Amino acid sequence: MAGQGAAGDLAEPAVDGLPVADEGTSAAGTWLELAIEVDSEAVEAVSEILSRVAAGGVSVEQPFATEQEGLAAVPIEGAPATLRAYLPAIDRLAAEAAIGETRTRLGHLTAFGLRPIGELRVSAVHEEDWAEAWKEHFPVMRLGRRIVIKPTWREYDPAVDDVVVALDPGMAFGTGLHPTTRLCLVGLERWHDAGLVTGASVIDVGCGSGILAVAAGLLGARELRGVDTDPIAVEATRQNAARNGVSITASAGSLPVAGGPFDLVLANLVASLLVALAPELAAAMRPGDGSPGSGGRLLASGIFVDREPEVVAAFESAGLRIVGRDQETDWVSLDAEQP
Ligand code: SAH
Repeated sequence: MAGQGAAGDLAEPAVDGLPVADEGTSAAGTWLELAIEVDSEAVEAVSEILSRVAAGGVSVEQPFATEQEGLAAVPIEGAPATLRAYLPAIDRLAAEAAIGETRTRLGHLTAFGLRPIGELRVSAVHEEDWAEAWKEHFPVMRLGRRIVIKPTWREYDPAVDDVVVALDPGMAFGTGLHPTTRLCLVGLERWHDAGLVTGASVIDVGCGSGILAVAAGLLGARELRGVDTDPIAVEATRQNAARNGVSITASAGSLPVAGGPFDLVLANLVASLLVALAPELAAAMRPGDGSPGSGGRLLASGIFVDREPEVVAAFESAGLRIVGRDQETDWVSLDAEQP
């Protein structure tokens, strides 16, 4: 695991793995990872204990077995979960106190008969290593029927019809792990099957890693634009476009953009932004001639199910017609048409 080697650089750890600050190395940028293996019935109680000292929350890793060349992950019944929480290492005394308290509380749990099954492990994690650590948890994924997201550091042997997006999202959003992104990719495939993508002009509003625009390009779109308010996303989109041999004009900013209107608009944002941007989104869509299917289309995602009516209302006031919706867990995507 990334970061494990880091503890060795630091002199005299007071608690296992706890770095000593200010001996030539400031501990700024170093975090302490508290990790423990826990019986499934103790997950909640131990999470609660860890979250008292770790403001950033607690992650629960259920052990998964991967099947079908890593395309399906299934939980392993009865296997212990690993809980992880992080505290800043900069204040050594506070960190030591927090770890001490945590050990005491875990001890009390055991006294109640709830049994965390492992020892609390403490190790130092440097931020730079952390930036790489998530890669372990990013598998090759098939989304929809044909779209396969392949992290650049993994191997994949494509089937004949596969549309393989080679992706390194870096620090940008858009890995395909999130339901909102998946809803867009599935929607894009549906548009493709209806003949809407081949030769189309497309704008991806909030392009993130570029995952959607790249997929649209690989599915045959002709002209691709990406905008994102985050310059890191713009850079990631450019790199992922190049990596896949797709040409995308990516720029920092938001709507409105020059060069429209577009046949297809992709917008995986949040409900409040979709509402605020509804008139601009509508203006970016090619107008129709009044007959169904003649105008540009919008695929909007990132809508928490409770906010769906608000977004529908904003789109309708902007003159759009809702022609479809899809849902995964609590997330909704809307397919809208410019009349
Ligand atoms: N399209 C990617 C990323 C979606 S995350 C995917 O589907 O996975 C949303 C992205 O929108 C982020 O990268 C964020 O930086 C960007 N964003 C936020 N507000 C925006 C705005 N007003 N205009 C354009 N992009 C915005």
